[in-house]
Formats: sequence, C-alpha cells, structure tokens
Amino acid sequence: MKQHLTHPVFSIISKIAGENNLQAYAIGGFVRDIFLKRPSKDIDIVVLGNGIDFAEKVAQKLKVKVAVFKNFGTAQLKYKDLEIEFVGARKESYRRDSRKPIVEDGTLEDDQKRRDFTINALAISLHPDTYGELLDPFGGMDDMEHKLIRTPLNPVETFSDDPLRMMRAIRFASQLNFRIDDVAVQAIKNNVDRISIVSQERITDELNKIILSPKPSIGFNYLFDTGLLHKIFPQMTALYGVEFINGKGHKDNFYHTLQVLDNICETTDDLWLRWAAILHDIAKPATKRFEAGHGWTFHGHEDKGARMVPKIFAQLKLPLNEKMKQVQKLVLLHLRPIVLSQSIVTDSAVRRLLFEAGDDIDGLMLLCKADITTKNEYKIKKYRQNFELVQQKLKDVEERDSIRNWQPPVTGNDIMQLFGLNEGREVGIIKNQIREAILEGEITNSREEALAYTIQKGEEIGLKVVAKL
Ligand code: ATP
Repeated sequence: MKQHLTHPVFSIISKIAGENNLQAYAIGGFVRDIFLKRPSKDIDIVVLGNGIDFAEKVAQKLKVKVAVFKNFGTAQLKYKDLEIEFVGARKESYRRDSRKPIVEDGTLEDDQKRRDFTINALAISLHPDTYGELLDPFGGMDDMEHKLIRTPLNPVETFSDDPLRMMRAIRFASQLNFRIDDVAVQAIKNNVDRISIVSQERITDELNKIILSPKPSIGFNYLFDTGLLHKIFPQMTALYGVEFINGKGHKDNFYHTLQVLDNICETTDDLWLRWAAILHDIAKPATKRFEAGHGWTFHGHEDKGARMVPKIFAQLKLPLNEKMKQVQKLVLLHLRPIVLSQSIVTDSAVRRLLFEAGDDIDGLMLLCKADITTKNEYKIKKYRQNFELVQQKLKDVEERDSIRNWQPPVTGNDIMQLFGLNEGREVGIIKNQIREAILEGEITNSREEALAYTIQKGEEIGLKVVAKL
C-alpha cells in the first residue's frame, strides 16, 4: 500500500501520529479511488482521538492555516493541490425523522461501520508502526473486484438511517459501472418513501452526478426499477410504456429518452445539454393522441415541453437562470434540424434555424444527432446523410451571412431618422420586413442592401426619406 502514499503530506501525518502516539488513517473515497485509479484531491483522515488537535499539529508543520468546524468536530486544511479533512473516529446512531446522526467517540471499526458502502469503508494506516496497512473489515476490495455496491451493515437500516445513501448507491453504480447488490436493491425498494426526509438540493446533487456519469442510463434504470424516480421526478416516469390502439403502438419514450441521453453523453460532458436530452420529449405523454388513419401523434410536444421546463427546474431546485433558458430553447427547437434533414434543405430554412438557435446551434445539432435512435438501418443512413448536408449548409450560410447572434444591419433608430418618424408601429413593421427579407435570402445581410430595402418598403407605405444615412 505504501507505494500509493506518495504525496509528502502522508509522511508528515505519519510522523505526527508517531510522535503523539495516535492512530491515524486515510479513509473513504480517497482510498477507494486509489484502487479505481481515479485521481483524487480530497483526503479524509480519521484519528483515534481529537481530530481538530491533530489537524492543528499537521497545519503547524506544513505552515498552512486550518479551518476548524467545532460543531462537527472536524478541521480542514489545504496543502498544495490537496484538501485534507481530519475527524476523530466516531460512532453514529439515528433517529427516525432526521438524516443527522447522534455522534459519539468510537473505534476505527465503528467509524468504518458508519460508512455507506464497503468500497467507501477502506482505511489505510498512517502510524509509523503499521504504515500502509490496509484495513478492510467488510470485503470492500472483493466488491471492487466484482464491481459491486454493497453496504457494510444491513442495507435496510443503512438506507432507512440516511436515505440519501439510496441516491449515492445508484450514483456510484452509474459512475463506476458497478452493480448494486440484490439485497441492497430490495432495501431501496422498501425504503423509497424515506427519500422524503432528504433535501431536494442533496437529491438533485446526486441526480446531476448520475447525469454526468459516462452512461447515465445505468443510474436511471436503477432509479426507475427501485421506484425512486417516481418519487423524485414523476414527469420522467410518465414517459414509460407503450399504448396500443388497433394494433398500433408507439415507441416507449422512457427508454428512447435514455438512449438519447446515453448517445449525447458520447459527444458532450455539458450537464445542460444532457438535461436537454432528458427533457426533449418530456411533453409527449401530455400531447399524445391517436388519430384515425394516421396513428400516434405528439403534436406540439416540443412547445409544451419547453413550457414545462421552468416548473421542472423549480421542482428539482435546478438554477432558474440562463442555463434553464438554454435547455428550454433546445427542447423547443429539437425537431427542427431533423425536419430539415428529411426534406430538401433550403438556404432560408437553414438561415432561420441559425437565427433562432444563435449560439446554441452546436448543442442543438448534437441533441438532434443523439435523437436518431431508429433501429432501421436504411433510415439511419438516410437521416445521417441528410444531417451532414444540414451541417454543411449551416456552415456555408454562417460563413456567408453571419446570422448567428444576428444584429439588424438597419436599426429602429435608423428607420426613425431616415423617415423622420417617432417610435411606433411602422418602425416595427419595417424592422420585421428587413429581418424576413434577410432570412428569406431576398437581400444579403449587409447595411447597404438593407438600407436600400428600407427605403423601398417605407416608400411603399407612403413614407418619405427626410435624412441621408
Ligand atoms: P465523491 O468524491 O465522488 O463524491 P466520496 O465517496 O469521496 O465520493 P464524499 O461525499 O466526499 O464522497 O464522502 C467521503 C466518504 O464519507 C465516503 O467515501 C464515505 O465513506 C463517507 N460518506 C459520505 N457520505 C456518506 C453517507 N451519506 N453515509 C455514510 N457514509 C458517507
């Protein structure tokens, strides 16, 4: 184990442990991540004794400041690129109505028992006499090898004591591509109602970590199968299922959404693009109709979906800022590139899309590509080819017309000066006409052509030019 403790800070901690005759251990996520080869900058140190006193001694030696949290009995210091937290070993017990444990001093074993999963309960001794020794009382190393999330104690109690651990189990399974032990899955199923004592912020924090994992469908399948998703995000579970009328079914939009989400994760790490993938079809259940002679339709689901986004963001305590607006825009526009790619692609249609999407055009194209989930090889090939065409056209139009984040080449002020007008309807009408003419390709996006066009349109409605611009 010693070879993993290469950072000089460990020998300093070890020295202090020896000098003071105290046992100290690196524990938890840091130790787990050594074996998973995931570089980690957060180190938790458990001391059999007073964690704060110990941290102060280490800080003195390292000549750094220490932040003490008396209420929690913890102390934290930063050294070079590391953040190190010290705490005395503790034993925890829980009341029914709170995630906050009653804490008392304990042994190392007590401290390991209070950890959520066996892979998070590993400890490495730092005392000089036993330096580098691994303490793994619950078989965490075995579980790591078998890619298994398992609780050190009875999972029913573990999850009931702190129901956030249910989200954490699923989050680790998704991040690490691990399986959750069957007994633990059953325990989550039995405890889903307990999630109600966890704050929305903590739930969403874990949900976002699942979404940011390499293949989030792993996590969402667990969330769905255990029933947790029904509690925390019922709009998403409403996507589940296939209805048949006259022998005609539609696709299962829940699994389609997961596929789109996994697809987009192969091309972007952006949390908000991933959220857009989750929400792109969110209004399908609400807009579903069976039309005789036509089959299943979901008319307007993009529009309704975009309108559902703020409520979902508020419910999940996601930020109600420009990120939400970006997700809303992507949901609203998600059908546009694919519609384009199914017909003859005109310059003006491409220009319009670029105009509406602005800087979100690249994200929109990633979302649309991810949205192609048909199993029909012929269709895939056709869509992809047309899609390439749309992408090429977007590039051409952008180079030529600079429509992304378009600013009108003739402004409302220009129009007022030109015709000696005050603010009013006519100004708005002419502005719209200019924009339409540019998007339709009747004139180029240049000041010269736009001015000539403005004069022509003004004169058509009886205005006279009174100034030269
Ligand atoms: P990550 O850094 O990816 O979030 P982590 O396991 O390091 O993963 P932390 O939240 O920093 O996450 O937790 C550090 C350690 O504290 C864990 O490895 C685990 O041993 C313990 N721990 C954290 N949260 C809980 C909990 N809710 N119940 C029991 N033990 C926990």
